[in-house]
Amino acid sequence: MLLVSEPVLGADEKAALAAVIDSGWVTMGDRVHEFEQVFARMHDADDSIAVGSCTAALHLILHALGIGPGDEVLVPSLTFVATANAVLYVGARPVFVDVESAAVPLMSLDEARAKCTSRTRAVILVHFAGYLADRDAWQAFARSKGLLLVEDAAHAPGLPAVGTFGDAAAFSFYGNKNMTTAEGGAIIARSRALSDTIRRARSHGMTSNTRQRLACRRPDYDVTILGFNYRMDELRAAVGLVQLRKLPAWNDIRRHLSHRYRQLILELCPSVMVPFDASWLSAHHLLPIVVPKAIRRQSLIDRLRERGIQTTVHYPPVHRLTFYNDLYPDTALPNTEEFAQRELTLPLHPGMTPADVEYVVNSLAAALGAPVPTSAVA
Ligand SMILES: *Cc1c(COP(=O)(O)O)cnc(C)c1O
Repeated sequence: MLLVSEPVLGADEKAALAAVIDSGWVTMGDRVHEFEQVFARMHDADDSIAVGSCTAALHLILHALGIGPGDEVLVPSLTFVATANAVLYVGARPVFVDVESAAVPLMSLDEARAKCTSRTRAVILVHFAGYLADRDAWQAFARSKGLLLVEDAAHAPGLPAVGTFGDAAAFSFYGNKNMTTAEGGAIIARSRALSDTIRRARSHGMTSNTRQRLACRRPDYDVTILGFNYRMDELRAAVGLVQLRKLPAWNDIRRHLSHRYRQLILELCPSVMVPFDASWLSAHHLLPIVVPKAIRRQSLIDRLRERGIQTTVHYPPVHRLTFYNDLYPDTALPNTEEFAQRELTLPLHPGMTPADVEYVVNSLAAALGAPVPTSAVA
């Protein structure tokens, strides 16, 4: 089966894990620190904070920025549910914003402006599928409205511009992302003060950690703020250090495969739209396509599966998930809903070859060519 995404793990990661076991120290220590340094350098930042997941990263950022009850945070609905959940974790309200269009399925600036109220405190941008939002435009908007600007950069690690948009950015190293530590995440915060608060809140709000207390032989610590246990451990950091070395080459492969997809789809499946364009700055996390209105998407999914090709949908809109629909039943986002109905995500990962891409597009063309009327299927 050709999967939508697949982690690349091998001998280097095994050796790195074995070295941690042999060292006798498995919880947050030197490797986590080194991982943070290397990750920060890759994104032109002075520092980063490694955590247990991107969800934890988003929660820590909003917590440290002091967002809470009575506040509203603008978020896209075309994202993973964790983006909105983090807003609820701090007691604030996520306000869902529509996407620009099917061709540019990123949060619409005009819609965001229209949904701004006196309670709006922050906006969380999602670089959907790895395609970067317009940095200058969102910075100008945030400045003019006095809003905090946060990036959910789960789809876009490895691009130097990512993590430089606003106050802080959250990254994911879950197994299906551009690089993985199995579970894991990181934060880049631009101000030193914010970075310090986040670092402390990551580990119970404590003023020192186990490793530091061992090193300075002082058993005492204080707790100065409300914190959590959102730490990364040495095993994950060791895998992460190996993956970070490979990430730039993997992102290059993703870019080449994406370009090949675009060429072939244009040639063989002209009725299919590929969002964004080839020159859009991207970490190429996903290869989303928009299928023609007259085609029943499930038939395509079934036919591709018969040919050993997995496809998925990014995303079922968050505002339409039962939990959110019950909370905010009156949310209507026509562009997001239309996009989500017609979107299909094709396989894209660094383990693929150009021949795999040709196979997928040929299969897609064959599946589209066979008559799949919308009305005839009950
Ligand atoms: C994967 C993902 C997350 C959550 O990441 P975890 O590391 O699994 O917590 C958040 N936002 C987006 C856009 C994602 O794709």
